[in-house]
Amino acid sequence: MRAGITERLERELSRLSATDALRVLPSARFGHGTVEENGRQMINLSSNDYLSIASDRELEREFLEQLRESEGVEPLMSSSSSRLLTGESRAYRELEATLSMLYGGRAAMVFSSGYHLNSGVLPALCDAKTLILADKLSHASIIDGIRMSECEHKRFRHNDMAHLERLLDDYAGKFNDVIVVTESVFSMDGDICPLRHIVSLKERYPNVSIYLDEAHGVGVFGEGGLGVAEAEGVLDKVDFIVGTMGKALGSCGAYLICDRVVKEYLVNKVRPFIFTTGLPPVTLMWSRFVIERLASMNDRRKRLARVGGIIRDGLASAGMPTVSESQIIPVVAGSCGRSVELARKLREEGFYLLPIRPPTVPEGASRVRVSLNASLSEEDAEKLLSVIKRNI
Ligand code: PMP
Repeated sequence: MRAGITERLERELSRLSATDALRVLPSARFGHGTVEENGRQMINLSSNDYLSIASDRELEREFLEQLRESEGVEPLMSSSSSRLLTGESRAYRELEATLSMLYGGRAAMVFSSGYHLNSGVLPALCDAKTLILADKLSHASIIDGIRMSECEHKRFRHNDMAHLERLLDDYAGKFNDVIVVTESVFSMDGDICPLRHIVSLKERYPNVSIYLDEAHGVGVFGEGGLGVAEAEGVLDKVDFIVGTMGKALGSCGAYLICDRVVKEYLVNKVRPFIFTTGLPPVTLMWSRFVIERLASMNDRRKRLARVGGIIRDGLASAGMPTVSESQIIPVVAGSCGRSVELARKLREEGFYLLPIRPPTVPEGASRVRVSLNASLSEEDAEKLLSVIKRNI
């Protein structure tokens, strides 16, 4: 490596370190819902395994038994190629058929991850006459998709419907298509977008579509676990629904629900779909196994909601109200240093929590992001609350 490059990288690493913003890969060992670090066992409150599916040994065993009995003709462990070459499998077709059935017969298209999906679908959908209006706190994968689309875009203030309405009034008439892009449950604050309001705005314009990222909503909300759009009764009003399978579903990959013609078009145009190896069939089969059981997991959803309520109410009555309405609860500490210190104290007390710092969140809003799961007991929640109150 040329010395000039190494020196430049080292300068930047020193700068990050001096501002407590240096990221390093964790050395902890992650087990089934627990974490072990330096000989200490902790409860994992940093993963997105909201329904405790990834850590459910019983479910895992049941799946493996089923797999053993259903010896197929296709390889299990790798797709070895792009879906458009030889990577397509029966497992893909079955997973997409199951998703399509759950979403009322609309087309389902599976991608290797939510990042592939958002960064690939948005550029493919847009042309020079398209305007994207995106929530200011949209996830990095959405932002990268917008950047790569090179189309006109504007950001509306977070969940601010008056601002969105003003932008629609000012600009909708100047474009052929307008796509409003937002998330259902926001990943860093745990608040939820006013989806019905967005739908009512869409209905006032002939050229507006909604693109909703349900990465943190799928599994957790809705009677069948399909997310906030299901809970709000507007599944059929959202043009593009994104679900990820690496979070509440305990697997890996992502899916898009859209019209059939859109899917046919995207298969031809999405670069992170065309130019990447497909997911291993075993992963797709596990996703389908979980998704088929999602509707019967209301007990897990209820437990998660109850524990979330205990923590949110407890923080509010201790003078730390939160905007969260979900399983993601931010405890904002302020500076990078304060968030690092708070997370360290919480780990000392047995809760595996990590600081979230810029650029993931704005400067001065560094935090500890509590990410709850359905295995957490009410006693654990009470203990966590008292540790936070003592250390904030
Ligand atoms: N969208 C949102 C809102 C997310 O939070 C994430 C992951 N953090 C993604 C998309 C990306 O999903 P994946 O992890 O499957 O790439």
